[in-house]
Amino acid sequence: MRTERKYLILLIDHLNEVKDRIEKACARSGRDPEDVTLVAVSKTKPEEDIMELYEAGQRDFGENYIQELRTKHEDLPRDIRWHMIGHLQRNKVKYIAEWVTMIHSVDTMELAETIEKEAAKHDRIIPVLVEVNVGEEESKFGVSVEDAPLLVKKIISLPHVEFRGFMTSAPFVEDPEEDRPVFRKLKQLSVDTFSEIDDNNQVSVLSMGMTNDFEVAVEEGSTMVRVGTAIFGKRNYAKTGE
Ligand SMILES: *Cc1c(COP(=O)(O)O)cnc(C)c1O
Repeated sequence: MRTERKYLILLIDHLNEVKDRIEKACARSGRDPEDVTLVAVSKTKPEEDIMELYEAGQRDFGENYIQELRTKHEDLPRDIRWHMIGHLQRNKVKYIAEWVTMIHSVDTMELAETIEKEAAKHDRIIPVLVEVNVGEEESKFGVSVEDAPLLVKKIISLPHVEFRGFMTSAPFVEDPEEDRPVFRKLKQLSVDTFSEIDDNNQVSVLSMGMTNDFEVAVEEGSTMVRVGTAIFGKRNYAKTGE
């Protein structure tokens, strides 16, 4: 009992520590912390952990695997905002279309069209981000910076898909400073894209920054950081079965 309690308090401490670091990064770069949403990446982590953070007021959670996301959505409070941040196969969109808050990983027109079809079935509009492989890493999903504008243009024509901005996962590096040019490049793409679209007064989203580099990402304009390890601790992938 006692050890469990200690562990739970630790999670909240971690959450507050991350929030504090976001605030300091905002202060350094003259930004308002209100403009940065913290998505707690809970993949492979138990529902009890999520509930502990939920009770501390956390509402935005990110997941990578559809089956795990479905189960957690089913079991946990309805006002949790679920973000699909992992690679998404077209045949699985139907399982999350009714309730997912945002899909961060759209990188083909075929996927966008599937989201359009499934969103229409539920008479809703699904907010999406275009995933960009800024670092051009072969192991990563996402469109190139060069191909992004055309994909955005096509997505905008879909009535049940709402283009809200861009997402990237920067390369893993020892020194997060090395990722600064990656974040800067995505920010520039965002500025260029939204100045061209200029069709709504929605605030654009820049989903960038993870445990290793979220402070640099915030300094470079991130509006959504996706932090897992710094909050929940290391992951054990053997348990996911995916
Ligand atoms: C797992 C994951 C994260 C969180 O990574 P941490 O390094 O644990 O903070 C963020 N974004 C994506 C796309 C992920 O798959």
